[in-house]
Amino acid sequence: MDFDYDLFVIGGGSGGVRAARVAAQAGARVALAEESRYGGTCVIRGCVPKKLMVFASEYPAAIADAQSYGWTVHAGGFDWPAFRTKLHAELDRLEDVYRGILSRNAVESFDTRARLADAHTVELASGQRFSARHILVATGGWPVKPDIPGAEHALTSNEIFHLDALPKSMLIIGGGYIACEFACILNGLGVEVTQFYRGAQILRGFDGEARGLIADEMIQSGVNLHLGTNIVEMEETEGGFRVKATNGTERVFDKVMFATGRAPNTADMGLEEAGVALGRNGEVEVDAYSQSSVPSVFAIGDVTDRVNLTPVAIREGMAFVETVIKGNPTPVDHVNIPTAIFTQPEMGTVGMSEEEAREHGPIEVYCTSFKPMQQSFAGRPDRVLMKLIVAAESRRVLGCHIVAPGAGELIQLAGVAVKMGATKEDFDRTVAVHPTMSEEIVTMNTPVRTA
Ligand code: NDP
Repeated sequence: MDFDYDLFVIGGGSGGVRAARVAAQAGARVALAEESRYGGTCVIRGCVPKKLMVFASEYPAAIADAQSYGWTVHAGGFDWPAFRTKLHAELDRLEDVYRGILSRNAVESFDTRARLADAHTVELASGQRFSARHILVATGGWPVKPDIPGAEHALTSNEIFHLDALPKSMLIIGGGYIACEFACILNGLGVEVTQFYRGAQILRGFDGEARGLIADEMIQSGVNLHLGTNIVEMEETEGGFRVKATNGTERVFDKVMFATGRAPNTADMGLEEAGVALGRNGEVEVDAYSQSSVPSVFAIGDVTDRVNLTPVAIREGMAFVETVIKGNPTPVDHVNIPTAIFTQPEMGTVGMSEEEAREHGPIEVYCTSFKPMQQSFAGRPDRVLMKLIVAAESRRVLGCHIVAPGAGELIQLAGVAVKMGATKEDFDRTVAVHPTMSEEIVTMNTPVRTA
């Protein structure tokens, strides 16, 4: 049977655009449909604008430090509309780059919603239908809000980049990446931030000691963090939103933001009708090659709810093209993915947390926490943390956790060593770079604990 396309990609985010480009470069006839903006969550309403806001929010502390170093400087005020205008101009530029990638590689793009009509047919919102040998679902995810009275008034990370003005006060609900990152960003920009997290400690799943330090530092820098606390209901009132909390308190905030997780974008996509199996969360169930229960339908990125990170979606897209278009079966490797959380201080992490590693056999824990030279000189109480989890028998470094300014940059390199299977002795025989914070990662001689 002759198909209109070899590959039809639904979704123009990081994963979809990469798969479309690489498939087209390999000689496939490729089409892609995107209903919103090219670049997807990462570029338009996630990583990129978030990181630019992180940069913006770090200047007050940098200016205070500059004063401590002898400079006569004053912060003045933060011009949110000026920053926001520039931010969106940058996002427009990046969207053009993504469109350009597709057009330069002869990927036919359709600026519209698309869904599956059957295992080999995509239907656009206009009713137009195309047949494809393979269909790749790369529709990403979307923020979800808990079902509580008044939730419709709350913001999510989607809206935060479009605020007309920065609020005076903001309540953030959640304790994951997004909640913690925005608590720090908005705090840095001068918003009075309160954060409610229902559990005992923020950033569930990450290394316990690292989470503890981040929480302490966030509180110290002004975030009003309430653990073991959730929202019960909210209502619009004069001057903001009245929020009732599980701890019995009631307070009014200018704005409320939910960062309570994201759900895969699979609703009304024709997936189940075409026989594609979905998981409990609505995610497309896929095998190690990103193939769904329908052999011609594949899925990558957040819509599969595996590891919801941009570089992982890109890897999954590349492995899909290698497998399906180039005929070289390539499973996706999800082991030891380094990642950063852009809280203040930042966290960079790769491999197992101490808690997880304990479940896998005897370990040694090497850990140090100290005041780094630059901040200490400026009179700041900030501490950093460097931690290695080592398998007692094989000596392999199972996990590396860094909480420090620039930890995201550091963990990329530590990630190479951990991925290569470096042992503690490999770290030990690496000469320290002096004077740096990260030299501590190769100079920790004695375990602080064994387990
Ligand atoms: P997460 O799943 O990481 O966190 C959701 C948070 O909301 C958790 O603290 C969860 O609590 C809490 N929560 C869930 N439901 C409720 C509820 N009904 N009431 C109150 N609290 C609730 O989601 P995020 O939205 O923060 O991030 C989504 C994904 O995006 C991340 O998993 C990550 O993969 C990615 N991301 C990555 C970033 C990076 O690489 N720097 C930055 C931002 C996002 P509990 O822990 O108790 O379940």
